[in-house]
Amino acid sequence: MTTMNGKVALVTGGSRGIGAAIALRLAEDGADVALTYRGGSERAEAVVAKIAAMGRTALAVRADGADEAAVRGAVAAVVERFGRLDVLVNNAGVGAVGPIGGTAVEEIDTLLAVNVRAPYLYARAAAPHLAEGGRIVTIGSCLAQRVAFPGAVLYATSKAAMTGLTKALARELGPRGITVNLVHPGPIDTDMNPADGDSADFQRGFTALGRYGAPAEVAGAVAYLAGEDGRYVTGAELAVDGGFAA
Ligand code: NDP
Repeated sequence: MTTMNGKVALVTGGSRGIGAAIALRLAEDGADVALTYRGGSERAEAVVAKIAAMGRTALAVRADGADEAAVRGAVAAVVERFGRLDVLVNNAGVGAVGPIGGTAVEEIDTLLAVNVRAPYLYARAAAPHLAEGGRIVTIGSCLAQRVAFPGAVLYATSKAAMTGLTKALARELGPRGITVNLVHPGPIDTDMNPADGDSADFQRGFTALGRYGAPAEVAGAVAYLAGEDGRYVTGAELAVDGGFAA
């Protein structure tokens, strides 16, 4: 395990699911962790309590990623509380399913605001605070690499945009010794995509391993990219998808 002692990480959408697993894993590796959430303060505080029980410092910040001022405020709160920021994990996201003809303009705008604009805004707000060795890791989706079934136009569009963000930012921040990478999960058992949901068997069928992943399996990949072992990896896309895109 790479030690993250002395590092400070900010995980968006860290109150549950994949984000909570990432927050806990980075804390386990030694980092102090701030996490954002939109509405679920009880679950956010439960993650904070678990991190505190590990002997690390944690902070939960309510911040809707669709709100630019809230994003700026969240980054400012982290820097004020911890005095530094080393790792940004752009994890918060929302799903959408349905044919393109049935998508209302408001639905398009809302999803793009959370899945595309927010990671951009977080990177913009965090970049000035990141020092040499800093990390940005964004959570994309296997649907950015292989759209195996219809009904995913809006969601796949939003996640594919993270490739551009990642590669362009890797070029921009590389000269400062900061890496920027993208992790593409496959079907992962969370509130967003429960392993006993209506479409779970259908999704399982597209993976090579024939199973859902656990949030901790995605967190392990993020920990590698955020840690010292990932220092020469940048602008990369890492599929943690059970072979969904194979
Ligand atoms: P969940 O729905 O289980 O959790 C979402 C998290 O994001 C919660 O902490 C939630 O906070 C937060 N969040 C949602 N909207 C906002 C917002 N507008 N502003 C701030 N925080 C917000 O999702 P997952 O853990 O399943 O997904 C995490 C990421 O992984 C997403 O980007 C998703 O697209 C991606 N992903 C997930 C896959 C899966 O199969 N689960 C597969 C591929 C990618 P709150 O609790 O307050 O609502």
